Amino acid sequence: MTHTAEREEKQSQATRIDGKAIAKKLRESIACHVDVLVTDHKLIPGLAVVLVGEDPASVIYVSNKKKSAAEAGIRSFEYNLSKDTSQDELLNLIQKLNKEKEVHGILVQLPLPKHIDANAVLETIDSAKDVDGLHIENIGRLMAGMPGLVPCTPLGCIALIKSVENNLTGLHAVVIGRSNLVGKPVAQLLLRENCTVTMAHSRTSNLPHICRQADILVAAVGKAKLVKGDWIKPGAIVIDVGINRTEAGKIIGDVDFDDVSKVAGYITPVPGGAGPMTIACLLGNTVIAACRQNNLTVPSIG
Ligand code: NAP
Repeated sequence: MTHTAEREEKQSQATRIDGKAIAKKLRESIACHVDVLVTDHKLIPGLAVVLVGEDPASVIYVSNKKKSAAEAGIRSFEYNLSKDTSQDELLNLIQKLNKEKEVHGILVQLPLPKHIDANAVLETIDSAKDVDGLHIENIGRLMAGMPGLVPCTPLGCIALIKSVENNLTGLHAVVIGRSNLVGKPVAQLLLRENCTVTMAHSRTSNLPHICRQADILVAAVGKAKLVKGDWIKPGAIVIDVGINRTEAGKIIGDVDFDDVSKVAGYITPVPGGAGPMTIACLLGNTVIAACRQNNLTVPSIG
């Protein structure tokens, strides 16, 4: 019997995957690793967070990252730059942080103001400190199956899937969305787990039909309630990465949660699914980067 068929037999309403609780456990485990680094090696992992401008969502993300870093014992260095900061000024700051010994991870909050070329910024970050995993070298390492730094939201998606199904070998995964930030790295990580992966995007024909083949469905689109219940294979694992704000100011995902819950085996809510995992994985990447830069064994985080 396939994993999906087993799940289908067990239940008629999807089990909610509690990303908040899983992320909390992960942050606690990271805090323990940090304790060991501080006690045994006098090493405090350091994360520099650079924010350009005052985009309200970005301000909240940055403040959450800073708070979570502090709780895990990670030292954070905050750089709040005005929206008029020139590209050269930003690149100079990154070059300075690249050399800073106490900074092991550098995160530049995206999106950047239009006059700044995000690719130029990402390529200036030392790839060893690129805790967002968006430097071309880390993208290449992920593709090649070599150790590197992997983007945080995709790492979080895999941890959520593995919290309910440890062996993904042979499962069919469909990823909707092909961005460098989420869709492509999620697909690579699923491939690494021996899934058969289909990538879908805005030009995909007959998306509902393709989604119905999925044992694992990851939606990373940015279209509220795009994925409906009749797109889902009974028992499937559904991971909703989307963040969409309704007119009433409520945050909802790309998946029609109530409709899809009637068919799926497992489903992540929005909020409280992929979001909290992203921050936890950022802290994990900072610890990994700190260990590598100090020639210490990288702990298995999770
Ligand atoms: P993105 O760069 O805008 O990519 C969206 C992808 O969705 C593109 O590949 C696009 O296809 C595809 N798409 C658009 N409309 C579609 C449709 N109708 N049918 C099928 N595919 C469609 O966005 P992103 O950065 O990947 O983010 C995706 C979502 O995840 C957003 O809501 C974002 O806010 C959220 N997000 C959440 C977290 C978190 O921590 N939870 C982190 C990052 C992002 P084309 O390539 O053909 O245009």
